[in-house]
Amino acid sequence: RAKAAGGNRFEFADAEADARAITRHGLTNALPAALERGEFFIEYQPLVHMRDGTVHGAEALVRWSHPQYGVLGPDRFIPLAERTGLIVPLGRWVLEEAVRQARVWQHEHGGAALRINVNLSPTQLHHPGLVADTVAVLEKSGLAPGALCLEVTESALIGADDELLEPLRRLAELGVDIALDDFGTGYSNLANLRRLPVSVLKLDRSFTRGMQQQPADPVDVKIVEGIVALAHSLELAVTVEGVETGAQAAQLRALGCDTAQGWYYARPGAPDRIHTLSLSDAVPTPS
Ligand code: C2E
Ligand code: MG
Ligand code: MG
Ligand code: MG
Repeated sequence: RAKAAGGNRFEFADAEADARAITRHGLTNALPAALERGEFFIEYQPLVHMRDGTVHGAEALVRWSHPQYGVLGPDRFIPLAERTGLIVPLGRWVLEEAVRQARVWQHEHGGAALRINVNLSPTQLHHPGLVADTVAVLEKSGLAPGALCLEVTESALIGADDELLEPLRRLAELGVDIALDDFGTGYSNLANLRRLPVSVLKLDRSFTRGMQQQPADPVDVKIVEGIVALAHSLELAVTVEGVETGAQAAQLRALGCDTAQGWYYARPGAPDRIHTLSLSDAVPTPS
């Protein structure tokens, strides 16, 4: 009996895995046509200066409006696009659209220095056209290179040799900011940080979860305190992601984090929502 039940369970699990594989397969096949039909769209999530709560910029987060399954998050399709290489044209579309949107914001706010963050996946990093494509997008839009920040995950740079880092170095030389996304989740050889052409550390949500309640988790506080000190000594700015509560925001601000992103400030949303938020250069900076 036990054996039979076990067998059934196995078959059930197997069928479920099959269904998932079929869905994955279907989504993968549908990606190129979806890009052509314009089924992807971008939500923007503000990044806020912790110092005064004003908006520093926004991160572009891609979504797929699937005709059958509804809106799919990037975790559902970015890995598939990575595997097939479609991430290159998709990523180029995201960059172009996000940069265009940043220019629209800047025009609407009389040249306000709003910045735009765009995620890069490992395949894009390896693609030989990365630097030329990025430069072309910036030139076409007229966005200053310093208003663009490319986010690369720590894990994408694990063991990166000079050949892989070269395009990032060139972009950094042009004035583009490079952020190390999800910092702290990969294997972090801290000494290695000096080799990377990054100017921002985006501290992963897992470090700030322990600060959602008061009193905050004392170990998490110590860890963030240490990372902020290290980052600042290397002249890197620190962005914290996943800030969901006021207690967390207050704690992270006290620890010296520079910018923050999270539901406490705003969820990712349509581009026009950025207007409801105050802009950093629209208010006097407190001394
Ligand atoms: P990420 O770059 O680390 O982006 C932050 C993720 O955290 C986003 O998830 C965002 O919606 C979510 N988030 C923001 N604030 C909060 C909060 O307060 N609490 C919680 N629990 N979550 C919060 P999303 O939009 O699902 O994106 C997931 C990942 O997909 C991103 O992680 C990024 O790695 C990737 N991604 C998104 N857009 C693109 C893209 O255009 N290209 C590439 N290559 N990857 C992308
Ligand atoms: Mg990111
Ligand atoms: Mg992140
Ligand atoms: Mg993350």
